[in-house]
Amino acid sequence: MCATKTWDVEATVRQVVDLERAGADIVRIAVDSARDVAALPAIRARTAASLSVDLQENYRLAAQVAPFVDKIRYNPGHLYHHEKEKPVRDKVAFLAELATRHDCAIRVGVNCGSIDPEVAGRFAGDSVAGMVASAEEHCALLDDLGFQRYCVSLKDSDPVKVIDANRRFAADRPDVPLHLGVTEAGLPPDGVIKTRIAFEQLISRGIGDTIRVSLTLPNDRKGEEIAAGRLILDDIAHRRYRSVPENLGRRLNIISCPSCSRVENEAFVDLAEKVREVTAYAREHAVTIAVMGCRVNGPGETDDADLGLWCAPTHVNLKRKSETIGTFAYDEVLSRLRIELDRLIAARQSE
Ligand code: SF4
Repeated sequence: MCATKTWDVEATVRQVVDLERAGADIVRIAVDSARDVAALPAIRARTAASLSVDLQENYRLAAQVAPFVDKIRYNPGHLYHHEKEKPVRDKVAFLAELATRHDCAIRVGVNCGSIDPEVAGRFAGDSVAGMVASAEEHCALLDDLGFQRYCVSLKDSDPVKVIDANRRFAADRPDVPLHLGVTEAGLPPDGVIKTRIAFEQLISRGIGDTIRVSLTLPNDRKGEEIAAGRLILDDIAHRRYRSVPENLGRRLNIISCPSCSRVENEAFVDLAEKVREVTAYAREHAVTIAVMGCRVNGPGETDDADLGLWCAPTHVNLKRKSETIGTFAYDEVLSRLRIELDRLIAARQSE
């Protein structure tokens, strides 16, 4: 996925080419603003790559976007929130009609941190069931509309949940292609290991049709995501599996988003690396820390972490579960994070 500002045509085309050279078959770009939309014809004119576009907030942008891309990805949770008064079926019909007219595929991309709240409410306490139900609901809508060129993704930052969600979905809808990924897997090598675990468990059972490896990397190293994905596929094809340690998930777990054009401050990748360094002393404690690059997904996707950081242009928001502790300058937040981490460990030890 391109992490450049999409409106920056030069930088985006350069990254599309770099990712293709690294072995990507499909390249995803994000479109959030009129400026991003205006850049699409120029990007399309300069690359023949299969382009998938991520419609995060505003599904109606699809009307301007579809003529220039090959695939549209929408998130059922975000679709629910935009134009709430309108039935979801009408919004899906709008996307399906555009996709048909412009010969695009659709990906229904369900994410753990942004499940449609009506569906999530029905499955309180079982986020995996909520993800699967949301995906199946949208498959039924697309089926009903006669739209067939779609695939589904069910992503979480926890590989165990990714395995569970994709297995449950594949059992119910073996006919629907699945795009696999562990979202916000974090920095390499940990992020590669989490992804490998999920892919080994799913692909070895015949589940999965396309993959994405999401790693927190600077822009000029994004090709490493593709290399990691290709290596995992090659290992699975040759039955070179890695064992899964029993205590996986019972130690310090740092999740961080792979970054994209929405990153609010270039300091994000550096911040994620420093979070890993300053918290290394707590590696034996089962604490999850989430580091997210922007306000689009940051607030929601840090809710489940014990401690969360999400980046704004000039400061970092620090959270304890869904509660905001405060906002801190980039050079102040790490010392406060350590204080909160020590408090959390001490509280658990006194329980
Ligand atoms: S959290 Fe924000 S910056 Fe990070 S990948 Fe998601 S949308 Fe992009």
